[in-house]
This record gives sequence, C-alpha cells and structure tokens, in this order.
Amino acid sequence: MNRAVLEAQLAELPIAQYVFFQTPELEFSPRIRAVCEQECPRYGKSWACPPAVGSTEDCQKRCLEYPDGLLIATLAEVADISDMTQTLATRPAHEEITHQAAALLKAQGLEVLGLSSDSCALCRRCTYPDAPCRHPERMFPCVESHGIVVTALAEKYGIEYQYGGNIVTWFSLLLYREKAD
Ligand code: SF4
Repeated sequence: MNRAVLEAQLAELPIAQYVFFQTPELEFSPRIRAVCEQECPRYGKSWACPPAVGSTEDCQKRCLEYPDGLLIATLAEVADISDMTQTLATRPAHEEITHQAAALLKAQGLEVLGLSSDSCALCRRCTYPDAPCRHPERMFPCVESHGIVVTALAEKYGIEYQYGGNIVTWFSLLLYREKAD
C-alpha cells in the first residue's frame, strides 16, 4: 500500500478525521450486541444486522482476518439532533464517502471488509430473510452488529465524536488485507 498516495486521496474527501489502526486493537463486546437485540428496531430485519451477520465470535473472527484498518469519521449538522429522521437523512452522504474510501483502498490492490454506521438502507425493503442480499458488494454491515466498541478506538486515537449542539458524527471501519495470490 502506498500510504502517502492514499492519504493524499483521503484528504480530497469530506472526512473530518481518520486513523489507521491494527485490527487486534478493536474492542469487541457482547454488550454492544445486546443493545442491538434489545433496543434496535432493525434487529432481525436486515442482512446487515444480527442475527444475519453471525455470532459475535464469527464476526470477531471475520474482522481479525483483515489485519489492518482505517477508521473514518464524517460530520453533519442538523436542525434538531433529537429528531431521528433528520439525523438518519445525513447517513447516505456518509455511506457514499465510505464507498469512496473503500474504493481507494481497493485501488491499492487491497481486499476490504467495510463496516458502517447503522443498518443498511440501500433497498426500500430488505430481502432478509426470504432471499439473498440484493447488493452484497455494496452493503456494509453495521459496526455495532459486529460487537465493536468503536468509541473505544476513537478515544484511543483522540478522534472527537461528541461535538455537542446538532452535530452528528458518523463512523465507518474499513478493514483491509493484501490480496491472496
Ligand atoms: S442491500 Fe438491500 S437486501 Fe442487502 S442488506 Fe441492504 S437493504 Fe438488505
């Protein structure tokens, strides 16, 4: 990977902050998955969420097959952050930036496992569980679906995520590895 080229390209994207890390630094917690199950309306309704993504152990194992990672954070401002409709309306822009950053890594010949914020919303109605995912190449499972405490990683690297006011912070993780011969 040519890190200097990649960083120059990342600087062209509207990313607020990013950091390279090693995947074993990620903290996995069953507590995060419990929140998915108990509090998220998308639980059991998407290929991007539990239980479709597999057990916490399966998710951790899958992530650790990619030794390195890139965390990206984007920001959006809304009129009222307590209004979920407004907040979620800013998510597609973050998803697009995540796709662009993933494409930059792939252009460097890397294999990428992307995880993004919140549940996949590519289709108006998810095919889960009746038919396969329509866009497996574009679908990013949710970071939390893999039991990852993304705020722990952000804090470790001094990535700000509590700006206050009506600023929304979105995170994605792009785990990557060299392509097998
Ligand atoms: S791409 Fe469509 S089918 Fe696949 S997880 Fe997203 S919403 Fe569901």
